[in-house]
Amino acid sequence: MQTQAQPTTNTPLQSPARRVAPGVYIKRLLFVNIVFLGEPGGPWILIDAGMPGYADAILAAAQAIYGPGARPQACVLTHGHYDHIGSLANVLERIWPGLPVFAHPLEQPYLDGTAAYPAPDPTVGGGIMPWVALGFPRGPFDFSANLRPLPADGTVPFAHGWRWVHTPGHAPGHVSLWRAQDRCLVAGDAVVCTRQESAYWVATQRPELNGPPKYWTTDWQAAARSVRTLASLQPATLVSGHGGTLQGPRLGQAFRQLTARFEAEQVPHGGRYAASPVVQSQAGVVYVPPLPLRPYVKLALVLAGGLATLLWLGNNLGAQRPQKQKAPPA
Ligand SMILES: [Zn+2]
Ligand SMILES: [Zn+2]
Repeated sequence: MQTQAQPTTNTPLQSPARRVAPGVYIKRLLFVNIVFLGEPGGPWILIDAGMPGYADAILAAAQAIYGPGARPQACVLTHGHYDHIGSLANVLERIWPGLPVFAHPLEQPYLDGTAAYPAPDPTVGGGIMPWVALGFPRGPFDFSANLRPLPADGTVPFAHGWRWVHTPGHAPGHVSLWRAQDRCLVAGDAVVCTRQESAYWVATQRPELNGPPKYWTTDWQAAARSVRTLASLQPATLVSGHGGTLQGPRLGQAFRQLTARFEAEQVPHGGRYAASPVVQSQAGVVYVPPLPLRPYVKLALVLAGGLATLLWLGNNLGAQRPQKQKAPPA
């Protein structure tokens, strides 16, 4: 078990993956992390597949850990957002054809060509990333030839000692991976180790425990329950989808603060999905709340409506005003 007390920054893009616990290697690709689970010489799996354009970087990182000809037994997806599956098509076509891809059943409609994710919420604040995310494809993504459901018994395929934990809220079928033996947690986007809304925080990679990236989170009550579920595990090492790695005693304190202040500090006030969640089923999206209108937009609409009413009244009153009778010609 790792006993390092200080948070550690993530690996730079060009550097090899970094070992954070036995058989746990993290690699940052642009602003999202992928994880390799498994010791060299044994079976191993890939967790998530990063942004597009990084298939060769994934292969290079894998070969640096596991040697030439490295090939995982499977890929396990924490969820199917674009920044976590961007290079998956290339990986499956060019790098490791036939690789099984495991995901939670509630995530599968977005990964088997059936459904698109709900739109991200640009109104959550915190920086530019919510607006950047508006440009990300939402699917449907189709990996149906490779897609498999995660085992219902909670085990993680080919990863001895690991279990998957359903942590919905950020995405309906989001899962985190947990190894009780050394209390190691791979949390995907259920919690992250940066302020993912802020380009500054994303660039500096200063580790800080936060709730899920706000702009993609579509059910905040479920997200809060998931954070408390993960806190109750009392992890000693935390690897997440974004930001650096957090380890040691400070992690427990960070989780206590996060859960105590989650509703006050993490849930975006007035955000599109804060008051009522997106309703999703195993077939995809059932209901999406309307985009909330900011006060200034409401004021502009009220002023525009008032102006239109005045113009209408002016026109109609003018039309109804009695015409002056012209004096009859003398
Ligand atoms: Zn996500
Ligand atoms: Zn993400």
